Amino acid sequence: MENRKILLREDEIPRQWYNILADIKMNPPLGPDGNPIGPDMLAPVFPMNLIEQEVSPERWIDIPEEVLSVYRIWRPTPLMRAVALEKALDTPAHIYYKNEGVSPPGSHKPNTAVAQAFYNKAFGIKRIATETGAGQWGSALSFACCQFGLECKIFMVRVSFDQKPYRKSMMEAWCGKCVPSPSTETKAGREALERDPDTPGSLGIAISEAIEAAVSDPTGETRYSLGSVLNHVMLHQTVIGLEAKIQLEKVGEYPDVVIGCAGGGSNFAGLAFPYVLDKINGKDIDIYPVEPAACPTLTRAPFVYDHGDTARYTPLIPMHSLGHAFVPPPVHAGGLRYHGMSPTVSQLVVEGLIEPKAVTQLDALDAGATFARTEGSIPAPETTHALAAVIDEAKKAKEEGKEKVILVNWSGHGLLDLGSYDKYFAGQLTNYELDDELLAASEKVFEGFPKPEILKSN
Ligand SMILES: *Cc1c(COP(=O)(O)O)cnc(C)c1O
Repeated sequence: MENRKILLREDEIPRQWYNILADIKMNPPLGPDGNPIGPDMLAPVFPMNLIEQEVSPERWIDIPEEVLSVYRIWRPTPLMRAVALEKALDTPAHIYYKNEGVSPPGSHKPNTAVAQAFYNKAFGIKRIATETGAGQWGSALSFACCQFGLECKIFMVRVSFDQKPYRKSMMEAWCGKCVPSPSTETKAGREALERDPDTPGSLGIAISEAIEAAVSDPTGETRYSLGSVLNHVMLHQTVIGLEAKIQLEKVGEYPDVVIGCAGGGSNFAGLAFPYVLDKINGKDIDIYPVEPAACPTLTRAPFVYDHGDTARYTPLIPMHSLGHAFVPPPVHAGGLRYHGMSPTVSQLVVEGLIEPKAVTQLDALDAGATFARTEGSIPAPETTHALAAVIDEAKKAKEEGKEKVILVNWSGHGLLDLGSYDKYFAGQLTNYELDDELLAASEKVFEGFPKPEILKSN
């Protein structure tokens, strides 16, 4: 009989993160004058120890003992063999999912939240300001700040604030302070409300608010934190893929396909980057980031220089972008509603090392329901996008009669997203396809921006 769970001991948690910057070429972020920004320009926003990590060329970076100690609350996470799903699909494929839903906040996000809280604390910072989409990041950072005795202020995208009230309760349980965004507390928020008083909000606007709250604190003891997109976030998440590798080795398997959903790219990167390194070194492996068809950053948007936020506080970063003014439709996968993408994930798409896919909201929730009814655990709406791609691959394996090994990141549970499932079961969910005109209009914002180079790493 196959094992359903592949477990590791606490002392088998990897001791280093993998930094993909050692293995790929990147366009630099640019300042307002169009020149590459120096670390000092980021100093009001992030603590210097994290800025150093953001630009580090070292391939392996030690995980501090204090971070490992908090990781041990829920890590190592189980690698699960989806035997019931395989059976239901009658597929010869072996499906493995890395269950990141077992952390206290219920997603992969504390892998970086804990690291970021630790580095802020070590730098003498007292308070962290951030944004949150579906509430996963806000709750993860509240949890992490609570572990290290830091204050946490969260600007939560309004549509999710209204749809997901219990995420706010979690933040409060961990002493985080959460307000809906746009708020009247910041200039960026007030301007967004003036443009559209009924706006559902967006991550782009919420990021502007959180950065403003950090840099305008007169005590200088507040910094900003981002839950995805940045290089150091991708770095911290690689503990997922490094663990998964050890677990698959234990059962003598190696993946043919690696899949993760992608909003800003961090859970995907966390599972996939250690395998991208193998691919760079010659392994034959298909690697798919999966995004919503309603917010098709990697599959339809151009690779450009753009701002990470709506008010254009961030530097210009090289990434696939729908435009910093783009307000994604209110799909239920709130964590996937972002106009941009991690520059490292974008660069891998440019190089053809990974191949993005898009799925509709209904196909995603179909997959989520199939998963819940076979494997039991109820996935987050974000995660269901990856599962839709897994089911497609498993069906393809059946048609081809191939015993493919599919590895997917189960980025979080959906126990606080049951409202989305309710709407789905009641037949009230619809698909949003982004039409070409809207896409073209949102891309107007790049006019006059510098263009990134198409770099090839080898
Ligand atoms: C936030 C979130 C995502 C999307 O963010 P990434 O940075 O792309 O990983 C996906 N799944 C879950 C469960 C999330 O909470």
